[in-house]
Amino acid sequence: MPTQKTQAIVIRSHPLGEMHKIIRFYTVEFGKVSAVAHGIRRPKSRFGGSLELFNCGNLAFFEYPNKDLHRVDDFELVNDFDAVKADFDRTAYGCYLVELVDATELAGQLADQSVFHLLQYALETLAQVEDIPLLARAFEIQFLGLAGYAPQLSRCVTCAENFHGRMVHFSPRLGGLLCADCEGQDATARSISRGSCELMKQLQKFDFSYLPRFRASNLNHRELKFVLSNFISYHTERTLKSREFIDNLNV
Ligand SMILES: [Zn+2]
Repeated sequence: MPTQKTQAIVIRSHPLGEMHKIIRFYTVEFGKVSAVAHGIRRPKSRFGGSLELFNCGNLAFFEYPNKDLHRVDDFELVNDFDAVKADFDRTAYGCYLVELVDATELAGQLADQSVFHLLQYALETLAQVEDIPLLARAFEIQFLGLAGYAPQLSRCVTCAENFHGRMVHFSPRLGGLLCADCEGQDATARSISRGSCELMKQLQKFDFSYLPRFRASNLNHRELKFVLSNFISYHTERTLKSREFIDNLNV
């Protein structure tokens, strides 16, 4: 029975009995891995605080064949993202990013490495970015792409025409934007300004280091948040608790 080693980020944890915890990781090589950290809730646990949420490090875990739950043997902490944890809003958004990764079914193992690096990069950026919600939108759109759900933003998703006019419609069900002629094909499609469309395309295309160059208006923020949250709800079929928490904070 093999011990596996891989880079990992803690994306969830919950208690198991009095002494233990089940830790959910996102790993470079195996995607999502759940493993028990034995004795972690004891005061003198050898794990200490190394397995807190967002922590990134080198994981060694004992893999039980044909099981969903494995055993944490070692976790060498590399980055604890303390600048994220020191700030309430950044922590709330960090919780949202990891919950989104946890809740989304990924299309295949090939995407794992890219998802890991995207999440790691997002947490690093979250530690210092000014427009935190814009980072969340950029992460959503890039993560959806890696997960196999990239929204079609360049042309109408049904007739492939280019867009005309100031408004287009976004359809979560059809997976992208509809032109004025096709908007009737999905009664649940919502209108969105061309400016917000363009911003979404930029967020899809450029890495997070470009975020300070983008200027998002209140309208852009509202529209992107609305269409992307609908798109995510459609694909995850779950309500994300951290998302509701952020909405209630209104940050
Ligand atoms: Zn069309």
